[in-house]
Parts: sequence; structure tokens; C-alpha cells
Amino acid sequence: MDLYEYQGKQFFASYGIPTSPGDVTSSPERVVEIATEVGYPAVVKAQVQVGGRGKAGGIKLVSNPEEALAAARSILGMDIKGHTVKKVWVEHASDIAAEYYASITLDRSAKEDLVMLSEQGGVEIESVAQSNPEAIVRRHINPIDGLTLEIAREIVGASGIPSDVHEGVAEILVKLYEAYSRGDADLVEINPLIVTPERKVHALDAKVTLDDNAFYRHPEWDEFRSAEELDGRERLAKDRGLNYIGLDGSVGIIANGAGLAMSTLDVVNQVGGSAANFLDLGGGAGADVMTAALEVINTDPNVRAVMVNIFGGITRCDDVARGIVNALEKVTLSSPIVIRLDGTNAPEGRAIISDLNSEAIFVESTMIGAARRAVELAEKGVASGDIR
Ligand code: GDP
Ligand code: MN
Repeated sequence: MDLYEYQGKQFFASYGIPTSPGDVTSSPERVVEIATEVGYPAVVKAQVQVGGRGKAGGIKLVSNPEEALAAARSILGMDIKGHTVKKVWVEHASDIAAEYYASITLDRSAKEDLVMLSEQGGVEIESVAQSNPEAIVRRHINPIDGLTLEIAREIVGASGIPSDVHEGVAEILVKLYEAYSRGDADLVEINPLIVTPERKVHALDAKVTLDDNAFYRHPEWDEFRSAEELDGRERLAKDRGLNYIGLDGSVGIIANGAGLAMSTLDVVNQVGGSAANFLDLGGGAGADVMTAALEVINTDPNVRAVMVNIFGGITRCDDVARGIVNALEKVTLSSPIVIRLDGTNAPEGRAIISDLNSEAIFVESTMIGAARRAVELAEKGVASGDIR
């Protein structure tokens, strides 16, 4: 789960990383109150989960209540790269002497955590990596030692950051690692990490991705989750415990296994269609989970056909077929459904589906065949009255 900047700052603050105090709101009048509380000059920042807010006009420095109100009115409701700004964060504006970059993430190819530090922050790190790769210090951290203050000092020493702030930056790196490892994050990034004219180091921005698999041991994350940006379909899917991502095509996808679901998306694309969603049923695709999946897909008005792609392994196709039959008794489909069953007990499974004898239910034995059929049906646009 990606956090908004204000949540990321809250997360950082709980690990002792210095940030400026402030507050979040969706009301222009409240922006003025907060700005007056934190003191002018203040900064009003759009809360959207996309970078480059500064360049897009989503961050404004204000020096009095009139400017605060005007900034709030212009930023709230603004569109930044397809994200509508619903909330702004307001904090006392910092004086900036220098902008650095610091991040920790998992380097999957090296199978180790990777710390990156650069004295060229405030700009997109990708562009620094392109134009000036030696300006980024990269260091892998083994999980036994973790990121000690000694290692942090070495990293900072290699970065070109002036020595009077070495200790301040090194201490923040250690805390950032704590936040990353104990806090179960997949990514923590501070860009910019600033130095003030008084030579104080602190985080001016916060980008955090939490590891969804660690939800069970972080009840405090519920608060973050409630603010998550989900569309109606995704919210329903989440309530039903499904691994679902909404897309904007017309073929609803149900598959067992994330890899198979992704291949299904590819195959639908390959035959000229487009997927309405990603949906992985996971292991054991029983009646309950199939019912939930069909319900979620049914709520999507863009769906013109559904493709169910099951490869039976430990999960047997006849069980899945019975699950589908069961689900179809509870859910009235609003579009035709193409079912591909292959693997363990596939013939038995197909027979069960064929016995339904429905004009809106099609059985296919290959993935490409099923995709072709689903795309064709989606293009034909069967009226919902035709569906049993
Ligand atoms: P991003 O553009 O979405 O990454 O948003 P940031 O929070 O990183 O802010 C972008 C830029 O706005 C920073 O690099 C700063 O140059 C500027 N900025 C943000 N907050 C302040 C502030 O408190 N004081 C000053 N002077 N500039 C700020
Ligand atoms: Mn930033």
C-alpha cells in the first residue's frame, strides 16, 4: 500500500525522523487556520500519490492568510497526472540550504536491501541516475548487521555531502532503515532531505510503500488504509478478500494464480481485446470465492464478456466447475462467460459446465481459444436480456 505524503511523514515521525509539524485537510478555510497555527511562510501541498507535484503547481508557498486561501482554492480539486487533489497538507515552510536524496528499497536482483544517497536531491532521482550516476552512493545492507551508524557514516562520507552535516544525515539513515525494516515497508524515500541555513537536517517529503503482507501485525495501519484511493469495484473486491485490480477494458478476467491471471491479460490483448481487471482467485477456487469474483466483475459496467481461466493442479477442475455452477445459482450474470478449464480432471470439469446447457456459457480447452471467444463476445455486445 502506498502512503500519501502526510501519512508517510506520520510514519517517519514515529521512527524519530524529523519532519515539520502540520495538518491535513480538504477545506480551504481550514488551510488558513493551519497556516496561521504553524506560522508564515507556510507551504500548501497537494496530497496525491504521484511525484512531481511541485512542477505541476500542486505545491505553493504562502506568506499570509489571503495567499493561503487562494493557494488552497487553486490546489484543491486540481488534476495532477490524472489524480484529483482531495486533500492538502499544510506545514511551516522550511528555508533550504541544500536538497539531498535518501531511499531504501529491496533490490530484488541482488536479494538485498539497497540504500541510496545523493547530494543531488530535489529532482527526480532517475534523471540524476541518467546524467550523473556517480552522484548516487548505492550500498547493499545485509539483514544480519542491518544499517549501523558506522555503515551510515561510510555511506554519507562517500556522498560529497558537507562534513558538518554528516552526523545528522547518518542518524537519519539509521532511523530510515529502522522505519523500513521494523516498519515493514517495501520502500522509504526522502526527496528532498534538506539542510536548513541553521544546518539542521530534515525530511521535506515522504514516499512510503508498506508491505501488504505485514498488515496482520500492524493494526495501526488501518488508519492509512481507510484513506486509500480505491474505486468502487476495488473496494468491493477488498471487502471480499480478492486480489483484484480494476482496469478499463471490456473483458472481465478471473484466473487461479497471479501468473496465470497476468498471462490471461496478455492473451486477451494479443487477440485484440482489453481486460477490465486483474483478478487472481489464489489456490482452492471454491464456490464462495468464485461467487465473490463474479459479483465484483458484475458491478463493472464496462464488462461485456467474462473469461474464467483455470489451470487445475492441486485444485481440481471438477471442483472448480462445481464452484462455478454453484456461483451461477447465486449471481445473475450481466454478460456472457467463457470458461477455460485445463489440468487435473479437466474433462470432468468441462462436462459439468456443458451440462448447464446455457447459451451464455461457453467452454473452451485452450487459453487462446477462450480469449478469442471472449473478445468476440465482448465486441458483439450481447444485450443483458439475452443472458440467462
Ligand atoms: P514533489 O514535487 O511531489 O516531489 O514534492 P516535494 O515535497 O518534494 O516538493 C517539491 C519541491 O518544492 C521541493 O524540492 C522544494 O524545492 C519545494 N518545497 C517544498 N516544501 C518546501 C518548503 O517548505 N520550503 C521551500 N522553500 N521549498 C519547498
Ligand atoms: Mn519530492
